[in-house]
Amino acid sequence: MTVRSRKPYIAGNWKMNLDRSRSLDLVKTVKGRIGDGNDREVAFFVPSIYLADVSAVAQGSPLGVGGQNVWFEDDGAFTGELAPRMLREVGADRVLVGHSERRHIFRETDEWMGRKVRAALDNDLLPIYCIGETISERQGNRTDRVLKKQLDAGFAAVKSDDAHRITVAYEPVWAIGTGETATFEQVDQAHATIRKWLANKLGEEAENIRILYGGSVKPDNARQLMALDSVDGLLVGGASLQAETFLPIIEYDA
Ligand code: PEP
Repeated sequence: MTVRSRKPYIAGNWKMNLDRSRSLDLVKTVKGRIGDGNDREVAFFVPSIYLADVSAVAQGSPLGVGGQNVWFEDDGAFTGELAPRMLREVGADRVLVGHSERRHIFRETDEWMGRKVRAALDNDLLPIYCIGETISERQGNRTDRVLKKQLDAGFAAVKSDDAHRITVAYEPVWAIGTGETATFEQVDQAHATIRKWLANKLGEEAENIRILYGGSVKPDNARQLMALDSVDGLLVGGASLQAETFLPIIEYDA
């Protein structure tokens, strides 16, 4: 059995799915099942328009509530964007940075990543910094190089004493929403690359950083993924939209 030094973290990313009433029902159900949260951390990353309502329902429970994206300035002419302080104001305590859909569909640049991570930390939002290679990068043996470049960008302004507040999610782009999960060996290898890079950058404080796996996590592979020593948690998209599929993932060890 894995002896864990880091608290398991199971995060659901709803993307642009659900509606207000189904969101609140899901949060109520999950809230009623996660107990005191001492043995695992559970969070939902929700469409910003629902953050206030979802946070209100989650209140009084250990359930974390986060935004799916953030801009790094405090205010100004950035039509359509949200400042970190705005997410906090409506109850978010965390945020995703660099999700592959932001990078690939919305062309977010590496240069923004470090500023977003820094802005999140400076505003008391716990970032999950998402990284991962495309299929052509993997096939061209560039996975390690890509991961390190993304880490260089996201951690550009991170210091050792920030380490305990940051999470990294390894999400191979080709595994997101495709039903194709990375093999355990591929997950282990990528997580080892990330762990080594973090140790070089931040020293022993890097041991506090959790590395999640994301990419077609389902109830039937969650237990095996969580059994890998290198995996500290899971970032779940599609399967986080319904209690029937998300609860068995949260309770992967039941
Ligand atoms: C994600 O949204 O980060 C994700 C991993 O999605 P899915 O679980 O649907 O592949």
